[in-house]
Amino acid sequence: MISTAFEYERATSLDDALAKLAAAGGAGKLIAGGHSLVPLMKLRLSEPTVLIDIANIPDFAGIREADGRIEIGAGTTHHDVAISALLRARCPVMAEAAAAIGDQQVRNRGTLGGSLAHADPAADYPAVMLALDADFHLKGTNGWRVVKAGDFFQGMLTVDLAPDEILAKVTFAPVRAAAYAKLHQRASRFAIVGVAAALAVSDGTISSVRIGLTGASSSPSRLENVEAALTGRDATAGAFSAAAGIAGDGVEDLNEDIHASADYRRAMIRVFTRRALDGALARIAG
Ligand SMILES: Cc1cc2nc3c(=O)[nH]c(=O)nc-3n(C[C@H](O)[C@H](O)[C@H](O)COP(=O)(O)OP(=O)(O)OC[C@H]3O[C@@H](n4cnc5c(N)ncnc54)[C@H](O)[C@@H]3O)c2cc1C
Repeated sequence: MISTAFEYERATSLDDALAKLAAAGGAGKLIAGGHSLVPLMKLRLSEPTVLIDIANIPDFAGIREADGRIEIGAGTTHHDVAISALLRARCPVMAEAAAAIGDQQVRNRGTLGGSLAHADPAADYPAVMLALDADFHLKGTNGWRVVKAGDFFQGMLTVDLAPDEILAKVTFAPVRAAAYAKLHQRASRFAIVGVAAALAVSDGTISSVRIGLTGASSSPSRLENVEAALTGRDATAGAFSAAAGIAGDGVEDLNEDIHASADYRRAMIRVFTRRALDGALARIAG
């Protein structure tokens, strides 16, 4: 199928994009990489009459560190996240997750902001955003607001983002001891189960841990029972093994589809939680 007819406009700034959105009166859609929106339009599940292209807004893309926090512009492509020397040195889990997205064409066009705003249940970044406790900076016609990753994702393809708002950037404190591990679909590489773990270890003891899960259910979530089981424990293989053994126990709405049954997903949450924890710990040494 082909999409319904639409006008195309190119925004020159965030404010210009917001003005164009307002002028479209609810019938406009932002387009960044187009890798999620265009398929929906071709299926006529989305029928905007105006497409507002935000891919070429100056300063909308870029990765920097300031005041101890990493800032990534929402227009940054997955490719640029994956190859970022700053991220690879300071917070390698972000680059690791980006490199695991789709194929090179998808990574060249798809953007961090597009992925987070679309909130596909099988997208990779949401697990990492939860593990890093990222802040999402939204600009709307009434100014800026900041939403925690844990509050942003609200359900299947549903986020805390008003129709007159743009996700401008995400910020987070870099964590070196963090890793992402996923079981991916063979064709698309979307996550069947994806787990991001971020550790803080002091004198061999886990002082804090955050674990984000994606792919397994309708929206991303934290594995709080695993976090509780690990906090205050020594960072040992035995502790990881025991904690990973209860991963997925509290997850209610496990997906069941052609890629994996709910039972298989639950088993894989355990396997990939263990892999993410091992990967995070290895980064403390490495
Ligand atoms: C073959 C294929 C394989 C893929 N594999 C994976 C994978 O393995 N893992 C994975 O995570 N993803 C995967 N994806 C999805 C890919 O990462 C998309 O790029 C991403 O989900 C959407 O980003 P985009 O920039 O293309 O957004 P678009 O398609 O342009 O936009 C998506 C939605 O977000 C809105 N939007 C875009 N930017 C903003 C913004 N800054 N503020 C507010 N709203 C905004 C748009 O209006 C639209 O509703 C795959 C896609 C394809 C086609």
